[in-house]
Parts: sequence; structure tokens; C-alpha cells
Amino acid sequence: FNEVPEGFPVPGKTTIYDGSQTIDLENVALQGGFLVKVLVLSIDPYLRGRMRAPEKKSYNPPFTLSEPIGNYGVGVVIRSENPAVKPGDHLYGFYPFVQYTIQQDAQAFRVLDDKPNLPWSAYIGVCGMPGETSYYAWKEYAAPKKGDVVFVTAASGPVGATVVQLAKEDGLKVIASAGSDEKVAFASSIGADVAFNYKTVPTRKVLEKEGPINIYWDNVGGEILEAALDNAAKGARFIECGMISGYNAQTPYGIKNVMQIVTQELHIHGFIVGNLRHKYVDEFYSKFVPRVASGEIKYKEYLVRGLENAGEAILDVQSGKNFGKCVIVVADD
Ligand code: NDP
Repeated sequence: FNEVPEGFPVPGKTTIYDGSQTIDLENVALQGGFLVKVLVLSIDPYLRGRMRAPEKKSYNPPFTLSEPIGNYGVGVVIRSENPAVKPGDHLYGFYPFVQYTIQQDAQAFRVLDDKPNLPWSAYIGVCGMPGETSYYAWKEYAAPKKGDVVFVTAASGPVGATVVQLAKEDGLKVIASAGSDEKVAFASSIGADVAFNYKTVPTRKVLEKEGPINIYWDNVGGEILEAALDNAAKGARFIECGMISGYNAQTPYGIKNVMQIVTQELHIHGFIVGNLRHKYVDEFYSKFVPRVASGEIKYKEYLVRGLENAGEAILDVQSGKNFGKCVIVVADD
């Protein structure tokens, strides 16, 4: 992490790639820990929030200047002095953006031992933190009833696409929006009843015709949230997952119709995925992940090869260039 960005992160400026450091894989001292070869790293929208000045408070710590950024990934153990993990184990957890890393705390990782028929990349997308986000918060807050109408934004990404499918399973009418015609076609293919490109069709018009909505899964905030508020049914649930339209904005978008919360008796649920994990993590891995492996749950990936391209990939996710879960492929297994 090289510089706090103003607005969108700038590859080569906000983050820089430093390929100068080497590590002696055979002899480096592990000090009771284990040496991991990093295979895949996740690029998520929230990384932008961590690229901030240290004095700015948030729910997670800011990245440290001159240090590698970090995020969820999967790596394979090369050598180990820790009896809890052995060479060949594949570990899901939090990694610095490096090719090899020595870790000490085996408890901080999940051993992906009984690997179903999935690429490792899936474990940081639909079968990792973004999929957990959809699964946990849908269970916790959606309270779906037959005949309900749900609106899902950023519907082609790992969070949105999973929500579309969970909502369909519950028998709801699903309205989905995304930022390109290809993304819209994907949202339809996974079950959205009404899918539209919010860049060419006004969200407000679609919701007026297809709503009112009983559930809004908000990934974007801003003007689209405003349109959703104006088209909310009485007692609608608003699942406030993210507000990416504001992540790179210099001034916040001022929502003008918050009085709708009162008059429509809305339930507004903001959440952070990690705080719901303890409730649902076991069933997520035992029930949901096998359904992804069997092909029942669909997902898209946007694979970017090479750690040197991480800066560009971070920008892609903020700007919407990614189509599906953005993954850095650091190395092959
Ligand atoms: P995606 O892979 O869907 O990537 C983000 C997408 O957001 C882009 O591809 C783009 O798609 C869309 N987008 C970007 N800018 C705008 C804009 N100005 N207006 C509308 N859409 C925009 O991301 P994820 O599925 O990983 O995450 C989706 C959301 O979930 C994010 O807001 C994220 O912060 C949030 N999240 C929240 C968590 C929590 O604990 N609360 C945990 C994980 C994720 P398009 O082309 O369709 O515009």
C-alpha cells in the first residue's frame, strides 16, 4: 500500500508491485510456524475502505503504508513446524498479498480438507466471504413470504448473484439490476424474473412498474437506494449490505427521502458478515458449498493472473469492469 487515494484507487500509485524481495524456501526459519504458497487472493469492494488515512475510523483497520495489503485467499502448505497443519494442506484465510508467507496461527485458517469438485478460487467467492454474506444475511433478515417481490443490485457479482438464487428458491419475484447487458443476461439466466441495465434504464421506472418491493438487497446505496425507498411496500425489509456507489466519492450522496422509513414502517438491517458467521458457518460449509459443487448454485469468476495486476483488479471491482468474482491467481497448485 503506497498512497491513500483520493477518489478511485490508481494502480501503480495507490498500490505498487515490488518483486525485489526473495525468500529461501528450503531454509527460511519457520519458528514453529508454517510456510504457505499463496494460490488465489480475493479482490473485494471493501478493500477500498481500508485504503484510508489511519485517523479515519471504521469497522476494520486501515492498511498500513509501505506494507502489503491483505485479504482472503487460499494457499498450500509447503513446510510446517506446526502439528495442526501439514505440507499439502490447503488453507483458507487471511493472507498478505505476497507469493509465499510464513504464518504462525493455524486456528486462523480453515483447512479445506474434503475438497469437493471446485477450483480453489471458488473458496474465496461464492464458497467464501461473499457467499457467506449472501447466505447469512438472507437467513437472518429477509423473512421471505410467498408472493414477495425482492430487488437485488449488483446482481452479477458473488454477493448479488447468490442472493438472486436464494430468493428464487424461496419462491419470490426477483428484480435484478447490473451495469452491462452481459451481466443482465447472466442475472436472467440464474432466475431473475426482471433484469435490467441500470445505466440505460432508470431504476425508478422499473420499480414503479414491477414493485412495490418487499425486500431490497442493497449493494450500491445512493440514487438507487433512494428509488428503492420510494417503491417500498409497507413493512419492507432493507438489507443494507454495501453502498459501492459511494466508496470512491469525494462527497457523500444525500438520500432525500428517508421519511419513507417512517411512513412505510421499514426494517433497515445493516450488517457486517463476520458478526453473523458464528450462527451459520457450519451449515454454510455442510449444506451450501456442496450445492455449489454439484452445479446447482451458479457463479461467475473474473480471473486476473499475477500479483503484479492486483492494483488494476482493485480498480476493476470499484469501476464495475469485473464480471463475476474478482480473483487474483497468484500461482497454480
Ligand atoms: P461485485 O463483484 O459485484 O463488484 C462490485 C460491483 O458493484 C461492480 O462490478 C459494479 O457492477 C457495481 N458497482 C460499482 N460502482 C457502482 C455504482 N456507482 N452504482 C451501482 N453499482 C456499482 O462485488 P461483491 O459481490 O463482492 O460485493 C457486492 C456488495 O456487497 C458491495 O457493496 C460490498 O461492499 C458488499 N459486501 C458487504 C459485506 C458486509 O459484510 N456487509 C461483505 C461483502 C460484500 P455493475 O456493473 O453491476 O455496476
